[in-house]
Amino acid sequence: MALTLRHVARSDVGLVRDGNEDSGYAGSRLLAVADGMGGHAAGEVASAVAVTALAPLDRESGDRPTNEDPLEALAAAIHTANQEIRRIVEADPALEGMGTTLTALLWTGSTLGLAHIGDSRAYRLRTGRLEQITRDHTYVQSLVDAGRLSAAEADTHPQRNLMLRALDGRGDPDPDLVALDVRAGDRLLLCSDGLSGVLNDAVIEKALTGSDLTAAAETLVELALKGGAPDNVTIVVADVIAADHEPDGRSSAAGIRTSGASGVAVGAVAEQLGAAGSAAADPMTREGAPWDTLPDATGLGPGGVSALLADEDDPEALRYAPRPPRGLPRWRLTGLLVLLVLGCVLGGYLAYAWTQRQYFVGDDAGQVAVFRGVSQELGPLTLSSVYVRAPGLPVEALPPVYRDRLADTIPADDLDDAHNTVARLRARACQANTPDEGRVGQPAVPSVASGGGEPATTTEPDSGGGPGPTPLPETTPSPSAEPAFPGLSCTEASG
Ligand code: CA
Repeated sequence: MALTLRHVARSDVGLVRDGNEDSGYAGSRLLAVADGMGGHAAGEVASAVAVTALAPLDRESGDRPTNEDPLEALAAAIHTANQEIRRIVEADPALEGMGTTLTALLWTGSTLGLAHIGDSRAYRLRTGRLEQITRDHTYVQSLVDAGRLSAAEADTHPQRNLMLRALDGRGDPDPDLVALDVRAGDRLLLCSDGLSGVLNDAVIEKALTGSDLTAAAETLVELALKGGAPDNVTIVVADVIAADHEPDGRSSAAGIRTSGASGVAVGAVAEQLGAAGSAAADPMTREGAPWDTLPDATGLGPGGVSALLADEDDPEALRYAPRPPRGLPRWRLTGLLVLLVLGCVLGGYLAYAWTQRQYFVGDDAGQVAVFRGVSQELGPLTLSSVYVRAPGLPVEALPPVYRDRLADTIPADDLDDAHNTVARLRARACQANTPDEGRVGQPAVPSVASGGGEPATTTEPDSGGGPGPTPLPETTPSPSAEPAFPGLSCTEASG
């Protein structure tokens, strides 16, 4: 029986990250999720390069012999992606350290090939039972394999995000390559750890069972957001169906394109490739932009992404240029230093004026506050001051993962962005302190490997029963429900 894939892709930046470093692709033959890492080092570029290198496997499949080995095709594309990442890093050493996970499935009409490197995951739902068909290339998984850690202990291990293998342009990539058996009726899920770190397998199994594709995908993203979504969330869900079940290969809904059509891209790859053509990045990065409509996707190959980076003076390229998940971006630091030198000549005025246009969110004596300036210090100089405190939002009311974020300060693009961050934090604090609006699973710290020099941080589970450092007071919920935490107000304008 001829089989094909019906698919849907979603990517959400989550509730904590500033940008989306994940990329996803879903086509009738190729499914892929890549989770970029690197601070200034442009995780979103790495993930977009990986997906861009693989996408032609979907587009050109009609021209290829049906007996082509999908594992060879995947290995070759991954080799190309790795070389491209190396080339980009060599051209700009500031990008050293960028890399990406990659989990991809390629259907050639007779064989389903899996290629996998890193800690994104693939699952298969068959007759109602979920099975993880990839093994994380992580330190904790190696401990589990060696019998030194239980799977449950691995879920809460402080080093659980430490990755052992990724696609980073160094050496030869070493992906797992496996041919899978496949049946009509199978449902496949690829996801970044922004999903699997928040939702456990039982929750994922339930969300995938018995609903249509789009509903299943939306439910999974929603559950991850309810669980705190500390990291970007990217998923590709696909049903294996008999090919003659597909009427005409046309789009049936946003993000779904069926056999015969080209695939959709979501996340960083859609944002970066679409940058030149459209300002409407949000819906297409979340729900998917048809691959062939991305202006730089056609004809440029893997160089498409890096070509966008080449002209650093192009304001549009800068606008979509990589940003670190947090901390001070290097170009801002460079700008700061340059301005300080000018300041020596011009009396410091320009530098001071520049810092006064920067904002971030941090902890001011136990209260969430918007700061003006930059969070770094320059020798004895402090370059920031409290711009406005957020009334009724004590830091202690936040779940631990957000307290950790706040301790490091959360950068903002501008004052509006800072206020939006405060609003999100307030919503999380109120949710965490209002009984019966609990989480699903445990929030995880964002991918390890994110972050130039950023150490993996430890968070305690803050769902019920966990040994949280600050047990939340229990009160009876009332419908009008100001939450239980002293000093916490859920009305933004109050205080
Ligand atoms: Ca991630």
